[in-house]
Amino acid sequence: LLGPDGVPAPTVFAEMSALAAATGAINLGQGFPDEDGPREVLEAAVQAIRDGANQYPPGRGIPDLRAAIAEHQARWYGLDVDPDREVLVTAGATEALAATLLALVEPGDEVITFEPFYDAYGALVRLAGGTHVTVPLTAPDFLPDETTLRAAFSDRTRVVLVNTPHNPTGRVLPPEVLRTVVELAEQYDAVVVTDEVYEHLTFATPHVPIATLPGARDRTVTISSAGKTFSTTGWKIGWLTAPLALVDAITTVKQFLTFVNGSPFQPAVAAGLRLPTEVFTGIAATLAAKHELLADGLRRAGFDVMRPDGGYFVIADAAPLGFADAREFCLALPGRVGVVGVPVSAFVRPDHQSGYRSLVRFAFCKQRPVLEDAAARLAALT
Ligand code: PMP
Ligand code: GLN
Repeated sequence: LLGPDGVPAPTVFAEMSALAAATGAINLGQGFPDEDGPREVLEAAVQAIRDGANQYPPGRGIPDLRAAIAEHQARWYGLDVDPDREVLVTAGATEALAATLLALVEPGDEVITFEPFYDAYGALVRLAGGTHVTVPLTAPDFLPDETTLRAAFSDRTRVVLVNTPHNPTGRVLPPEVLRTVVELAEQYDAVVVTDEVYEHLTFATPHVPIATLPGARDRTVTISSAGKTFSTTGWKIGWLTAPLALVDAITTVKQFLTFVNGSPFQPAVAAGLRLPTEVFTGIAATLAAKHELLADGLRRAGFDVMRPDGGYFVIADAAPLGFADAREFCLALPGRVGVVGVPVSAFVRPDHQSGYRSLVRFAFCKQRPVLEDAAARLAALT
């Protein structure tokens, strides 16, 4: 968890947001929206505070939110989830990931993830005492090689941790990749943990929850969060659904991490999950248009731009502009043109940097005038 010089280091998101704040640059680094989400959701939290939802809620989450999560899984994916036994509300997806890995992974156990991976995965596997095994997703299509995926599994594999839609690449993993993951998890008796926080933020390719695949449900922990779908990243309300034995094990850890979470936000998220389908598709369509806006701007500025299927981020290669090292580029970018991005190297292990060095992740979950301004600033690079 220490930086290269052995001292405690902030995450790349904290580092780049601090840089944006210090320089006044447009922050396309850390992924958070600069607009509030659905009014009904915000108002429901205000109302809940007025109604007195201000003390510790139940440890597994208030019954109404657990019911809304189960309804959501049935309505969108046809999954049958027991709200009383198979749902756990957490402090964002981050706590769901932490409690799951701490509950399941013993020293020496292996955890497989694709690489690049969301920074918390590497840190949490280490906190749990596990060994992190990675399977590369390489530019420009960011799909895994099947032989490499198969070779990553062994008798020591405890967890295969999947993330779709994927941060930072935006790839929606195709069903055939997910099917291979399930087949291998069955063969090696591993638990599938799937981080689907961007489940509603897809552009054209539909999101397929891995738990819907044959053989998956009984060994899968599905994780999501209200932060992305409802633009409430600061509320930190997430959840997981899994078979009872897994929920029990994870709850045992969760109760000593945060005990319970955000009582007024829980009824608000329940209201959000019950919003009409058009609200969800509208959120995705707005985001898709923002992606086009920023991707066009990056292309005009001279970057090679890779196409995400969903999520908040687009990856751009700075090599055509003459920049070989994306970290150096990102540190200099606020001073040069007043924009902040994140080097993809932050999502890749130090010994696996080859192939990712010149790639930058930019967030497009920002208001259109902000993206237009950023595009105009980036055009000044050439
Ligand atoms: N997983 C992924 C892939 C993410 O991108 C993020 C945050 N942006 C999280 C988990 C953390 O979500 P939360 O803020 O709900 O803890
Ligand atoms: N998940 C967000 C991102 O990828 C940020 C979350 C964080 O700051 N840890 O940018």
